[in-house]
Amino acid sequence: MKTSGREWPAGVKKTRQRQAVLALLEQAEKPISAADIFTGTAAAGQDISLSTIYRILNYMEKKGVVAKAKLARSESVLYELNRFRHRHYAVCVICHRIISVNNCPLENFILNIAENDFRVTGHNVEIYGYCRECDGEAGGGR
Ligand SMILES: [Zn+2]
Ligand SMILES: [Zn+2]
Repeated sequence: MKTSGREWPAGVKKTRQRQAVLALLEQAEKPISAADIFTGTAAAGQDISLSTIYRILNYMEKKGVVAKAKLARSESVLYELNRFRHRHYAVCVICHRIISVNNCPLENFILNIAENDFRVTGHNVEIYGYCRECDGEAGGGR
């Protein structure tokens, strides 16, 4: 049985279906939806129902392996591997394309509050605008 380079998360029982879901999340360069995973596993010859995929994703989220990606202006729920390095994404307001941001705009940001008043553990940034394809045709359709 060939597994990916990533170590299997501790405390998670290994099943063929879970492996398939994690493998897809691992390959994805950006957050993907349960429907994307469904399509991907089906394309790989795995017969996993959408409801099973949701169940696996919920379970993996509870275990801290998978995180729901919070994206600006996006209706759909997307998932990504809970990597230790956090990421930001820019979302096109027209086509909802997601573009990975390679740096953190808040890396050197200092909160203007007395430091003992609050301990920051994370942040969420909404970045939105027009992707290259939609830029210029804003106002027109796609
Ligand atoms: Zn766009
Ligand atoms: Zn950041």
